[in-house]
Amino acid sequence: MVRFENKKDKCKGCGLCIEFCPEGVLEFSSELNSLGYYPIKIIDISNCKACKFCELICPDSAIKVFKQ
Ligand code: SF4
Ligand code: SF4
Repeated sequence: MVRFENKKDKCKGCGLCIEFCPEGVLEFSSELNSLGYYPIKIIDISNCKACKFCELICPDSAIKVFKQ
């Protein structure tokens, strides 16, 4: 089981995690965060393989992925 922590108010909406996720798990939210950006949201966590590409590539440390 995967636990995905998305600190949406740290996200600057750069889209790198969406682009690099090999499983298509992430997309942009339609709601602005407190910084005025559209943060990411999860489409389907059951497709996440906990590869951590998104966590490693995020320049704002907005994602943490844990495999439990
Ligand atoms: S851990 Fe891997 S599969 Fe899961 S959302 Fe991040 S990039 Fe996608
Ligand atoms: S890589 Fe980080 S800052 Fe960029 S969209 Fe993803 S969570 Fe937001």
